[in-house]
Amino acid sequence: MYNCRCTTVAVVDGVDTGNAMRRARDPETGQNVLVEDMTYDEWVKWKMAKGAFYDLSLQPKPVTIESINRVKAFQCVTLGAAAQTGLKNMHKQLLLAARKQPLGTEVARVFGCDMGKLTGYIVGDDNQKSVYIPNMEVEHIAIHTHPSSSAFSPKDLLRFAQRDKLKMLTVIGHNGHIYAIEKTDGVEKEIFMKKVHDISAATKIILASNKTNEEKLVEINAFIRESLKNDYTPGVNYYEQW
Ligand SMILES: [Zn+2]
Repeated sequence: MYNCRCTTVAVVDGVDTGNAMRRARDPETGQNVLVEDMTYDEWVKWKMAKGAFYDLSLQPKPVTIESINRVKAFQCVTLGAAAQTGLKNMHKQLLLAARKQPLGTEVARVFGCDMGKLTGYIVGDDNQKSVYIPNMEVEHIAIHTHPSSSAFSPKDLLRFAQRDKLKMLTVIGHNGHIYAIEKTDGVEKEIFMKKVHDISAATKIILASNKTNEEKLVEINAFIRESLKNDYTPGVNYYEQW
């Protein structure tokens, strides 16, 4: 009895009941995923197009009611005003879904640019610190949680840069902090790809330094945020909101 694309509460109900979902193990990665009403064709397409989105390996923190209450809407180019409110609600619901998973598990979901649901919840493995997000043939936005509340990882940015139809990618931290990046008209893909590669190279240098792992990851997180904030790429907008 699945028909929840037009309702706002069924997504949370879906996680509760499990009726509209099935848990499947991806044979390549061993990751468990929750697939909501996916046809076989969609499943095959999903497997072909999937790619991992990572959190930095900082300490995961639990989702609290305070962090869910902290989630705010933000202005962006990709979404109209109503869809911006819809995104805020979907971020809150994603945190509710993440709250029911073992600590450290990432959860993702994909929407059209009108915030219509394109997938159910996609749940990463609790010990992999990553979640697989399908690519789509239509323009879409993808949201995913970072249990440590860190910003985009270099892998997240690379996949965002590569996927032309992925118009916006957001990270919602378990603390309610939102990071978002979007492509607008006239995006300079080559320039952005180069920037992402530069960020990735810089993080590798930090990783090779003589510091504790925790110090390195904190430094990488700060470096990525500063790079996205201060070094503007035409057609790519970066937001932080909380
Ligand atoms: Zn990520």
